[in-house]
Amino acid sequence: MALKYWIDGTLYPKDEAKISVLDHGFLYGDGVFEGIRAYGGRVFRLDQHLDRLWAGARTLMLEIPLGRDELRQAVLATLRANGLRDAYIRLVVSRGVGDLGLDPRKCPRPSVIIITDTISLYPGELYERGMEVVTVSTRKNIHQALNPNIKSLNYLNQILGRLEVNRMGAPEGIMLTHDGYVAEATADNVFSVVKGTLITPPPIAGILVGITRNAVLELAAREGVPAEEHLFTLHTLYNADECFLTGTGAEVVPVVRVDGRPIGGGVPGQITLRLMKAFRELVQQEGAPID
Ligand code: PMP
Repeated sequence: MALKYWIDGTLYPKDEAKISVLDHGFLYGDGVFEGIRAYGGRVFRLDQHLDRLWAGARTLMLEIPLGRDELRQAVLATLRANGLRDAYIRLVVSRGVGDLGLDPRKCPRPSVIIITDTISLYPGELYERGMEVVTVSTRKNIHQALNPNIKSLNYLNQILGRLEVNRMGAPEGIMLTHDGYVAEATADNVFSVVKGTLITPPPIAGILVGITRNAVLELAAREGVPAEEHLFTLHTLYNADECFLTGTGAEVVPVVRVDGRPIGGGVPGQITLRLMKAFRELVQQEGAPID
């Protein structure tokens, strides 16, 4: 059975799920999105994803044409219609159809799209052996110009980073702030462990404040692992005892080499492994039931 995608209240077979070329989401990247996961019939932290979607839309003065609970129900109904219990969900709100100028006032109705599909993850061995990442030369946008917490349809900053990552043959890459501090990976947040303390860059580093990041900080508190949010340099990262990345798609993935420098013993660290385990348990326990 072909997957069905939801556009403005109607489910279309995947191949027929289309939007206009005059949609400003397409013409200008004017819109917001979320990437969400369902595990074992539950949607992980759906409300937090909806909060972030609504917050970005508010800043963009983009009126989401349905209520929060309606969208919540539509996500669950789309998963049910597709018979999916473990899934990746992409929510998109675009400015909608307008003319060729960029004025959003010419777009009378934003479009809402719900894509539910299966997910292809990093290979399992990366979670066991750990991954090697590289630093890219493309810097993060400064948050004063474009706040990265607006998860907008314009992802070119991250795509420029990703192109470098691909050229270097790595699975992910680290982006620095304009003044050279570690910010985040192209689609994941970054953590290091130094002398038993978890350290992750603060929102002011121009990062997307990830929902997985926040879940890991909660788990660290629960596990009694001290955690701090502050800026750190590549020098700190190269000399850290452990490193890992977090994200909706990646979950918690150990990093064992950064720019050719082995981190810790060159194997996933103990705190990383504890948090990976705790995160895997958490996603099975919590979440909005699909049925
Ligand atoms: N940073 C960026 C740039 C991202 O796109 C994402 C989402 N893939 C993340 C961090 C991680 O955020 P989350 O845990 O909410 O998926």
